[in-house]
Amino acid sequence: MKIIGKEINKTSLGLIKFILITLTVSMMSCMGISQSAGDGMPLVEAQPSFEFEKIEKSSDAWQKELDEQAFYVLRKKGTERPFTGTYWDNKKEGAYLCAGCELPLFDSKTKFKSGTGWPSFYIPMYDNTVAEERDATLGMVRTEVLCARCDGHLGHVFNDGPKPTGLRYCINSVSLKFKEMD
Ligand SMILES: [Zn+2]
Repeated sequence: MKIIGKEINKTSLGLIKFILITLTVSMMSCMGISQSAGDGMPLVEAQPSFEFEKIEKSSDAWQKELDEQAFYVLRKKGTERPFTGTYWDNKKEGAYLCAGCELPLFDSKTKFKSGTGWPSFYIPMYDNTVAEERDATLGMVRTEVLCARCDGHLGHVFNDGPKPTGLRYCINSVSLKFKEMD
């Protein structure tokens, strides 16, 4: 009986060890997955809030400030033709600011090749600088994205982006102002 008891003890100890090792290995691999972020895109999380105050200007004031195309897209919610903008193929490192008020919106590290002809990002730079609104125009329901400071129209966000967020922020070049990193 004693021998059997020892055998059982050994077996349960072995089982506990096995469970512990399995847990450790699976925890490590989970961490590995979140760090590599899949699909070769780096995991860049939105930075904490950026402090700013809302900007409100009349349509006339914006029209004087912006060129025709920027006014049409930012203030009239227009869309530039694909593959015509300045930044759809820009691979330089830096930050993309709002072309209307220079609020930092997107980091080049989160820009990816979408093939759409518009600059595409999988996450905004800060968690509070890109606002969202339901857009039911053109016979479809989309999510419009706007600059949270000046309400300038940026583009739309879709759910078919790459990992780690699965989001695709499809942004008009003309709504952005690129600031290259020093
Ligand atoms: Zn803005």
